[in-house]
Amino acid sequence: MTTHRLHDSRNGAAYHLGGPDQWAGFALDHPRLGPMQGKAFLRPHLNLTGMEVSLNSLAAGQGIPYLHAHRQNEECYLFLGGQGEFQLDGLQFGVCAGSAVRVDPAGMRGIRNIGSEPLLYLVIQAKAGSLEQANTADGILGEHPPVWSAPEGAIGR
Ligand code: ZN
Repeated sequence: MTTHRLHDSRNGAAYHLGGPDQWAGFALDHPRLGPMQGKAFLRPHLNLTGMEVSLNSLAAGQGIPYLHAHRQNEECYLFLGGQGEFQLDGLQFGVCAGSAVRVDPAGMRGIRNIGSEPLLYLVIQAKAGSLEQANTADGILGEHPPVWSAPEGAIGR
């Protein structure tokens, strides 16, 4: 798996973790659940301070073997590929590429893959009720258009 730091500076960091076809190779040692495959958190790499993001690949025929809720964070699940089912407080519905799901901290949630391809998804968690400015309201436009030098080459090679 190709993982390497692309950039690190005062105002940001960038890290390459491999494309979605490589996410099944992620290995995580969950503090309570033990070894997990197909999940990587970005905060340790990017030093995120207001959110946590994970990249997830759930193999065909597999489901997360537990339901869970959160103490204070809401979650947004963004599905990128595969066919899955989401369960929220005992109700289930289908998800596929393009599906987005928001869950309040108290929502008891679960996911399973019902297709023949990996179920690929991102999970973004942030403190519920913490967002004060959304969409473009928080942006500050620069005064000048970007100036680019010659390309430095493709990443991941
Ligand atoms: Zn969660």
